[in-house]
Amino acid sequence: MHKFAAVMRIDIISAVPELLESPLNHSIIRRAREKGLVEIHIVNLHDYGKGSYKQIDDYGFGGDAGMVIKPEPLYRAITDLTSQREYDHVIYTSPDGEMLDQGMCNSLSTCGNLIILCGHYKGIDHRIREHLITKEISIGSYVLSGGELAACVICDSIIRLLSGAITCEPSPRSSSFQDEMVATAIYTRPADFMGWKVPEVLLSGNPKLIRQWQEEQALERTKRLRPDLLD
Ligand code: SAH
Repeated sequence: MHKFAAVMRIDIISAVPELLESPLNHSIIRRAREKGLVEIHIVNLHDYGKGSYKQIDDYGFGGDAGMVIKPEPLYRAITDLTSQREYDHVIYTSPDGEMLDQGMCNSLSTCGNLIILCGHYKGIDHRIREHLITKEISIGSYVLSGGELAACVICDSIIRLLSGAITCEPSPRSSSFQDEMVATAIYTRPADFMGWKVPEVLLSGNPKLIRQWQEEQALERTKRLRPDLLD
């Protein structure tokens, strides 16, 4: 019996699905979807809204200004998915979540099924975070207006790691952060652009020397730009 490589599946729950369109439908992600390496399904939270107005938000308790996403639509959207298949993680994008880094991307890229829930307004009712969310991810210490851009960042950073997603690089694992280093400096033709010259060694045709130079470059750039990675 043939054993097919499992296709990764990502379900993104969003109140503004239009925000997800362009980043997930072009370039490497589009090709990965077309090659069948990943399925991305967008769930419109409004489809699970309450009443004839399909309400998804309400005033927060405690008198603070701003709207909070209600628990009912979130509960229904999430359990609708989890009742159909098992998920490795039910992720909530949140500025106070665990910080996304290359190590987390590597580990997420080995998952089978993921749910990513995008917050909006002031955020989501905390009971959903306590009872249904299994992982909270922040893409940086700043506040976005919605989780959609964060969901796109998470998708992009993990899908490019799927085997076959990037065919022009020997391996996406040669990129920055994979060996606790930033990437080497890169150049293309022409070798002389207005007198700005490409380092001589890259024109030498000697793969050993080139590799050595690239490693030195990467180390020098890491020391200068991201010394924290070497600690
Ligand atoms: N009131 C919240 C911020 C809400 S911002 C707070 O102070 O923590 C609205 C939504 O944007 C959040 O629910 C979250 O899903 C998303 N978001 C904002 N900043 C983010 C970040 N740095 N990383 C991931 N998601 C973020």
